[in-house]
Amino acid sequence: MKLFPLFADLAGRPVLVVGAGDVAARKVAALLAAGARVTVGAPRLGQALVELAATRRVRHVEGDYREGWLDGQWLVVAATSDRATNDAVARDAGHRRLFANVVDDAQRSSVHIPAVIDRSPVIVAISTGGSAPMLARRLRERLESLLDPELGALATLLERFRTRIRARLPAPAARRHWYDALFDGSVMAFLRARQPALAEAALEATLRTPAPLTEGRVVLVGAGPGDPGLLTLKALRALNQADVILHDRLVSTEVLALARRDAQFIEVGKSGGGRSTSQHAIHALLLAHARAGRRVVRLKGGDPFVFGRGGEELEYLRAHGIPYEVVPGITAALACAAYAGVPLTHRDHAQSVRFVTAHCRDSFDTLDWRTLARERQTLAIYMGVTGLGTLRDKLIAHGRAAATPFALVENGSRASQRVVTGTLDQLPEAANAHTVGSPALLILGEVAALAGALHWHGAPPLALPRDVSMPHAA
Ligand code: SAH
Repeated sequence: MKLFPLFADLAGRPVLVVGAGDVAARKVAALLAAGARVTVGAPRLGQALVELAATRRVRHVEGDYREGWLDGQWLVVAATSDRATNDAVARDAGHRRLFANVVDDAQRSSVHIPAVIDRSPVIVAISTGGSAPMLARRLRERLESLLDPELGALATLLERFRTRIRARLPAPAARRHWYDALFDGSVMAFLRARQPALAEAALEATLRTPAPLTEGRVVLVGAGPGDPGLLTLKALRALNQADVILHDRLVSTEVLALARRDAQFIEVGKSGGGRSTSQHAIHALLLAHARAGRRVVRLKGGDPFVFGRGGEELEYLRAHGIPYEVVPGITAALACAAYAGVPLTHRDHAQSVRFVTAHCRDSFDTLDWRTLARERQTLAIYMGVTGLGTLRDKLIAHGRAAATPFALVENGSRASQRVVTGTLDQLPEAANAHTVGSPALLILGEVAALAGALHWHGAPPLALPRDVSMPHAA
C-alpha cells in the first residue's frame, strides 16, 4: 500500500467519531487537540467521554449508527468494536467521497492516522501503511529521543522573524547557511536552557551583523559501495548541507535518497560504457558552482582516493583557490570482502593485500605481473568484467597456482549482490556462466575459499556449473 502523506487542518471543522469506548476516546482527544469540532455517535458514552460531553467539548449523538450522521463532516473515524458498523461507516463514507479512518483496519481506511512525534508546530508522522503498527511505535520512540524538545519553540520563533530573515538574507544559499549556524549556535542553546528572551535577543543579533559572505566550497565525499548504512555520519551531513551534488553513476539511488531533496543533482558518472562526462568538464562544473558561492558535494562511489581520480580534482581545486574537504568512504574492496565473508588478510593464508585496477588493456601492460602472482597475498582487483581471460593467463604464466581460489563479487553490499567462486583456471568461464556484470570486484587469493563457509549476506556463492567446458583447465 503506497500512501500519500498529508497534514489536515481540522481547526473549527466538524469531525465525526463513531463509537465511544477507550479507543474512540483517544482519537477524540487527538482531534480536539487539533481544534476539530467533534461529534461522537454511539448508543452510550464510555467513561472517558462522559465528562467531555458534560462540559460540551464534544457533542453526543445518541443511538445506532445512521448514514445521516455523515452530513456536513470533513472526516469520519469508525472506532466501534462492531465490525459490521465499522464496515457500514467506511462504505457510506466512500460513497460520499468522505475520508474515513477505521481504527486498526488499514484495508477499510481511506486515511490512516500516523504515529506522531509532536513538537508543534513541528510534527513528525510515521506510517507503515498499516503493515506493522508495532514498527511505527518503535520508530516513534527512537525519534522522540533524537528530536530536540525545543524544536517547536524554535519553529515558533522563526515563524515570527520569517519576513525579517527573508529581507535580511534574500539569497536562498545565504539563508540556508544562516539557518545551519542557527541550529548549532546560541539561539538553540538558550531555548534549551528555557531562556526564550535571550534566544530572541541572540536571533536579533545574528540578523544585525553583516550578512555572512557566501564562500563556495567543495566536499569530496566517499559514498561507499551502495548500502546506505555504510555512509559515514560526516558524509550524511555533507549530503544534507549540499546545494549541488555532482555524483558518479556508481553511487546508489539509496544513498542519493538521503541527500537534501532540493539540492541540484548532476550525474557525471562513468560506469563501464554509456555516456560520461569528461574529467575536464567535471573540473569546470566544480569550479563554476563553487565560485557561485554554492556548497558542492563531489560524491564518488566507494572511497574518493581509491581509483576515483579524487586526487586530480583536489589538485585542480587547490590551483584555483577553492577550499575543500575530504570525507573518506568504504572502498569496494573492503565492502565486497566483508559482505562476501572473505577476510582480506588471514594469519594462515595471506599477510598482505593489494588493491589493483585493471580497467583497460593498457593497465594490463603496465602491471608488474611477477609480484602480483606471488603467493600468500590477496589481490583485490577493481575492473570491468572483460579481460578476465587475459588476467588469468598472465597470473598463471607468472607462477600463480591454477588452483588459487577467487571470489568475484557483483553489486557488493547491495540487495542484488551475487558472489561467484571458483579457482583461477576457471575464472572467465565461471563469470560467463553466471553473466556477471558491472560493477564487480575480484578477490583472488587463498582467503577467497572462505566465502563458502563465512558468507552471510544474500545468496550463497555460485560455482561453475559442471557442464561448462574449460579450454584452459590446467
Ligand atoms: N572509488 C571506488 C572505485 C572506483 S573504480 C571505490 O573506492 O570503491 C570502479 C570499480 O570499483 C568497479 O569497476 C568495480 O570493480 C568496483 N566497485 C565499485 N563498487 C562496487 C560494488 N558495489 N560491488 C563490486 N564492485 C564495485
